[in-house]
Amino acid sequence: MRDPIHCWLVQGDGRNILVDSGMTDIPMVTKRLRVNGVGGGHPALISALEAQGLEPGDISHVVLTHLHFDHADNLDLFPDACVVVQRAELMAAIDPVPSQRIYYWQSTINNLIARKRPSQLLLVDGDHDLFPGIRLLSVPSHTEGMQVVIVSTDKGRAALVSDLGDHYRYWFPADARATQHPQRSLTGAFLTGNIRSESERDWQRAMARVIAHSDIVVPAHDFRIPVSIPDEWFACPESTDGDLAHVPPPGGFH
Ligand SMILES: [Zn+2]
Repeated sequence: MRDPIHCWLVQGDGRNILVDSGMTDIPMVTKRLRVNGVGGGHPALISALEAQGLEPGDISHVVLTHLHFDHADNLDLFPDACVVVQRAELMAAIDPVPSQRIYYWQSTINNLIARKRPSQLLLVDGDHDLFPGIRLLSVPSHTEGMQVVIVSTDKGRAALVSDLGDHYRYWFPADARATQHPQRSLTGAFLTGNIRSESERDWQRAMARVIAHSDIVVPAHDFRIPVSIPDEWFACPESTDGDLAHVPPPGGFH
């Protein structure tokens, strides 16, 4: 796989909120999807939290943008945290559009269904203000219950857009800083993805809504995303340098 997979730690008002919980161990992913990678699973997540001086028990909330396997695994690390997901997304995980069955894994669904205490699971319907400064926008597009997390920081509103546009080139398709193949005809529009539950029109509308509600967008799978927001705040990358998605690996893609 040539894409990085990110989770985000949001801190404020004494809370540690995880946005997405990442992917399972690579051997399992390789077995199921025939792709390779490094990292993943409990060790990667635990060591990333450790680097912030935290352990899994310190996470109070896990907000899931959607329930695909690369965003919503490892939930067993957070048995007492409150998982926040759109009700429509849980239904989509149980009964996906047929083309997405392979992306919704039983381990995620089983974990959510086993959360019997109200404090362990919050299903939301549509836009939702989770806490002051943390807003969930409902954006059906890539999946039926997709949500984007908008975090107010001291530099502005950062939108953790996940797979609504998982690389900068989807948000800035006409900008040569974002893509090696800028398309002038897409000025003022967006590129949308191939994995989708909703129409092109719905997807375009969803991305426009996120732009209207935020100051920067942070895709899920671009190599150039800032590691620390708001310390590394930028609306668009300076160039396509470092975007390995454009560069074939030694020996070609597998
Ligand atoms: Zn996805």
